[in-house]
Parts: sequence; structure tokens; C-alpha cells
Amino acid sequence: MPHYTIIRSHRKTTAIYILPDGRVEVRAPKSVSAREIDRFVQSKSMWIAKKLAELEQRTACPAPLPDPVFTQETLRQTVCGLAGRWSDVLGVSVTYIGLRRMTSRWGSCTPKTRRIRLSTALLYASEACVEYVVVHELAHILQQNHSPRFWKIVGGALPDYKARKKQLTALQRQLSAAGIM
Ligand SMILES: [Zn+2]
Repeated sequence: MPHYTIIRSHRKTTAIYILPDGRVEVRAPKSVSAREIDRFVQSKSMWIAKKLAELEQRTACPAPLPDPVFTQETLRQTVCGLAGRWSDVLGVSVTYIGLRRMTSRWGSCTPKTRRIRLSTALLYASEACVEYVVVHELAHILQQNHSPRFWKIVGGALPDYKARKKQLTALQRQLSAAGIM
């Protein structure tokens, strides 16, 4: 049973209010007895608990933001350098590679036009992880899907790609908790 305060007035109905500081307030007509109010609050206890949980979630401190590894400029230079090197190794050519804000993914590739876009969230990733994303997107020019053949290309280029992928998954979780991804 939640704690609550009663405010009586000339109103006609009883209503429960969850205040921004988490207090529960019941506004009721003068004619309604304390016992009736208690029963009413009891019947709404699930709803109150849900609202209080939502409030707590909204006001919780955001997860600490990791420090960026790159500046926009150093990330751009790193990406260009890696893309140049790995497109040679994989024997593919790219018409465009750019950085943009993305939600929930690190990069995308349009194999038909050979355009690659990478997430600006890579500012927070290690160079090894940036390299993995570059290789991953370049490999999509050769293989559009995530078939075993695709992973063979990625694994051939970066034998430790699974570890880098894991790091990115952990980073993504952190960045999305901080509202960045
Ligand atoms: Zn992919």
C-alpha cells in the first residue's frame, strides 16, 4: 500500500496524482470517507507502482559517458587511411565513404553504388574496432549478406574480428545507455 496524502475539495470525483518528486496525492470530494479513499488507492496500487517505477527510470542519472578516442578530424583521417589500405587488400573500390549520425548500427554499405557510411559513434571506439567496421562494410561490396562466405572474407582479413565485434557490442550498450546510439 503506497503512502499518500489526501486533498479534499469541492470536486466530484476521486483521483490519484503522482507528483514529480514521487509523492502520491489523492484528491477527493469532501463527502468521501477515508476508508473509501483507502480502498480506492488499494485498488489502484498496481497502477501507482507502475507510475512510480516509470518516474524513477526517468529521473535516474544517465550512464557515464565514455571519453571519445578520436576527434571528428582524427576519426576521418583514420577511416580514410584504413579504407584505402583495406580496399586494396580486398580488391574493391569505394565511391564514397563518410561519417554520419546513425542509431543502432556502426556502418552501412550500398554494394550497388559502393557507398559506405560509418557512424559518428565510432569517435568512442578503439582503432581496432574502427578497422573492423571498415573491413566489414568493404566486405559487403563483395558479399551483400552475412553468409559464411562473408565472414570468411572478414576473418581472412582480420583473424581476431570476433573479439573486436564483441568490444563493439559492449560499447554500443554503453553508448545507447548514455543516449548516444
Ligand atoms: Zn553487415
